Amino acid sequence: MRVVLIGPPGAGKGTYSEYFTKKYCIPHISTGDIFRAEVAKKSELGLKVKEYLDRGELVPDEIVVEVVKRRLSEPDTKRGFILDGFPRTIKQAQELEKITPLDAAIHIYISEEEAVRRLSNRYVCPVCGRVYNLTYNPPKNDLTCDYDGAKLVRRSDDEPEVIRRRYQVYYQTFSPIIEYYKEKRLLVEIDNTIGSDKGIPLLERILVDKGILRIKPCVT
Ligand code: ADP
Repeated sequence: MRVVLIGPPGAGKGTYSEYFTKKYCIPHISTGDIFRAEVAKKSELGLKVKEYLDRGELVPDEIVVEVVKRRLSEPDTKRGFILDGFPRTIKQAQELEKITPLDAAIHIYISEEEAVRRLSNRYVCPVCGRVYNLTYNPPKNDLTCDYDGAKLVRRSDDEPEVIRRRYQVYYQTFSPIIEYYKEKRLLVEIDNTIGSDKGIPLLERILVDKGILRIKPCVT
């Protein structure tokens, strides 16, 4: 199952990835995670990309493509992979085709309003760092931490205006990529307004029916 995963903030990309990587033993490859790890290690690559990450700019295509190419040559990708955060440009998508064929580009989407509703419900304890969600795991008492009673706060990037901005920026970048895969007839879309509990089995079914998911689970 060689797929690219596309989804705006709050859509549930992380939950979907975790399900498929665990059940089918395929790696989740996030270029953002790779770069952050290299920066933390202060490796040669890390030093090269640090300035781009610090400024929130895209790392040049040649560097990203090389990193992905190397990662996809590792043996754990033999059964497949889930690529996340790549490709981000048409050039990257074209280069990816030279590295490996893809079975699908999966677009998990929710509306901007739904993203705001989901993410603005997230609160953290400024003292112990525990994360709450008013819908999914609310604190026992109104906006105070269950463990130390501190007043919970919202992270600055979970403020509604910031969520809207992140959502729009996401689609500014990824809309051309979505179009690209649509034209190649590789696009599979799932509306995750129904929630991951229902959306995951639905997607799994679609992938099997379309012959995209052909490997057997590695744990039963
Ligand atoms: P964000 O933090 O924007 O949600 P990521 O965690 O995917 O995104 O990536 C963090 C940073 O790593 C990006 O801001 C960018 O500098 C770099 N990066 C990750 N993936 C790519 C890519 N495919 N092309 C160019 N730069 C990338």
